[in-house]
Amino acid sequence: MECIFCRIIAGEVPADIVYQDSELLAFRDIHPQAPTHILIMPKGHIASLTELTRKEQALMGRLILLAKELAEKEGVAAKGYRLSVSCGADGGQLVPHVHFHLLGGRKLDDQLG
Ligand code: 5GP
Ligand code: ZN
Repeated sequence: MECIFCRIIAGEVPADIVYQDSELLAFRDIHPQAPTHILIMPKGHIASLTELTRKEQALMGRLILLAKELAEKEGVAAKGYRLSVSCGADGGQLVPHVHFHLLGGRKLDDQLG
């Protein structure tokens, strides 16, 4: 298995997991850009937003609700946070397994890119 996130999902590579169920996994980014920096993803390998289909509609909705719940749990919801996804080379996506970044705990830059 080449995908690093699939290896984490399989339990082959350790990660600081903050949530998991049969379909979704969330763990702390190894190089946090903010006091809270959590990566949230579907367990099934989907390379990027580009590969999403209607089949994943409900799953991605659940993922966003999970992000909201994790922001509350982390104590960053009241002051605000950012949920972002990079897609493809120009989007700056480094790991080709679709994932959302939940960032909070500090004032984030105005700029998105
Ligand atoms: P991307 O640019 O693809 O959206 O970001 C990938 C993110 O995954 C980066 O923020 C990077 O620090 C994180 N990351 C890459 N490899 C690992 C890893 O093995 N473990 C953890 N916890 N995070 C990783
Ligand atoms: Zn994968």
